[in-house]
Amino acid sequence: MNGMTFRIGAIAGVPVHFSIWYLILMVFFVQDMGGPVEMVLFGIAMTVSLLVHEMGHAMVAKWQGLDPSVTLHGMGGHCTHLPASSAKRDAVLVAAGPGAGLALGLFAGAILLVVDNAGAPMPYVADQFLTYMLWIGIVWSIFNLLPIFPLDGGKLTRLALLGVFGPKSGHKIAHISSLVFCAGALAMAIVTKQIFVGLIVAYFAYQNWQLLQAGADVFGGGRARRQPDPQAAALLLQAEDALEDGDHKEAQRLAYVARSMSGTTDQMEAHAWEIVCIAAQRFGQPSECERLASRATQTPRLLESLILCALARGDRSTALGLTQNSNFNKLPAQARQDLKARIG
Ligand SMILES: [Zn+2]
Repeated sequence: MNGMTFRIGAIAGVPVHFSIWYLILMVFFVQDMGGPVEMVLFGIAMTVSLLVHEMGHAMVAKWQGLDPSVTLHGMGGHCTHLPASSAKRDAVLVAAGPGAGLALGLFAGAILLVVDNAGAPMPYVADQFLTYMLWIGIVWSIFNLLPIFPLDGGKLTRLALLGVFGPKSGHKIAHISSLVFCAGALAMAIVTKQIFVGLIVAYFAYQNWQLLQAGADVFGGGRARRQPDPQAAALLLQAEDALEDGDHKEAQRLAYVARSMSGTTDQMEAHAWEIVCIAAQRFGQPSECERLASRATQTPRLLESLILCALARGDRSTALGLTQNSNFNKLPAQARQDLKARIG
């Protein structure tokens, strides 16, 4: 879901992105709202509530100097940022989202109550809007606090388990318990015929399963100098997806975040640099690509990027020299042919 995302601006210095999938999510929720007025009001209330939730995370991340960015997408929203420097700080950051969402909902409820007590008539539109804000604030915050990773409740549970059992066992217990709660939530979604919730929970289950596998991979080897973090491995996978989708900025951003995590092995770090370099070349920053290339895993596709960088500078002799690299012959025949044609 990394493609089809566009930046719409910034709130308090935090970049805000919208995915086309968010519109689909909104249409899904809005369609049962009765009239067009209710649909518009609900759409606005939902967007404001989600933004306030994500901005709750983002403001704490900004305060901690973690370069946050917010995206509304097909499953709600997320706030990406550099990793917090301690588990305690991370917990504050995670709790700030549902905290802000709940506060907004209760604030809307308080206005309704005060106006009602004063006996003053409230215009229908305002009344309806505040009612939606109240319910979305409460329901979304409670859903988010379920102990299922990657929901906020699941993240807080994971942090606590890592603290108690250490990285290896904590990781395992966190994602196994998430899977157990997913099974429960899935059963409830099926019984109550909440197809959409069911699909989201099924996707969460899949993510937890993947993270369990990633954990088995990184912890299984035991050769790493540092304790590797499966989250960093998962981020690299996401960065690869973004690169494939043509969302180069997002690929580079995710690779930077993965690289900066404390549990990144040398191998993962070189992989992250490789993505950063290729993405830089593809969005038209050849000098950036060439500058960082020595830190990256030397792969055929990186070589291809470096040849294109040299060509972008009009430096044919360097490009020609790079074709002597052994990785050149590992490129697909079509790619080799295209490059040779461009070098001339
Ligand atoms: Zn959140």
